[in-house]
Amino acid sequence: MTKVGVILDVAVTTGQTNEGEMIEPQVDEVEAITGIEIKTVTADVGYAYAKVYGALERRGIDALIPAKAEPIKSRVPLRRFRYDAKHDILKCPRGRILRPARPIKHGRFFSSKAKDCSRCPLKGDCLSKGRVNKAVVVGNDYPALLRARRRRERWSWQDRRLYQRHRWRSEGFHGEAKTWHGLARGVVYRT
Ligand code: SF4
Repeated sequence: MTKVGVILDVAVTTGQTNEGEMIEPQVDEVEAITGIEIKTVTADVGYAYAKVYGALERRGIDALIPAKAEPIKSRVPLRRFRYDAKHDILKCPRGRILRPARPIKHGRFFSSKAKDCSRCPLKGDCLSKGRVNKAVVVGNDYPALLRARRRRERWSWQDRRLYQRHRWRSEGFHGEAKTWHGLARGVVYRT
């Protein structure tokens, strides 16, 4: 528990397992051990994924995980497209609508109509080379990620204090285990 620094559970995975997949099973495990319903989870930026925020949000758990800003890869970045959850559409900076199209593994493509983009003054910056319309991928828990980004901007003093404690307590133990006890990597021998 965070107040007294007792490690309640340890999970070892192969390097192929994404650490974000481990948060929910660990929450289940700690709730089962303590009989206490978890209200807040702290984790470092390595867990700052939409699916983690979505999973914790659905369980009513406050995620004190510092959300990353959107990487800017385009001169018309995704954050300039407004997601309307009620109608399940995106609105581009020119107010045109992008509708959901084919699903992919962790989200869906949203696409605009070519005729909406054909005379747009932003199309040189907005459209990928050779394309006549806009297509962007929106992750499954994108609204939860947006909420986490807004939440990050409003972290209270108490939130910051909790996260600071996570930094030195949890990450400190990890750092010591990896640096001094060789636990950064393990090898499994089968006999
Ligand atoms: S190119 Fe299309 S999607 Fe991009 S801003 Fe213009 S109308 Fe909107």
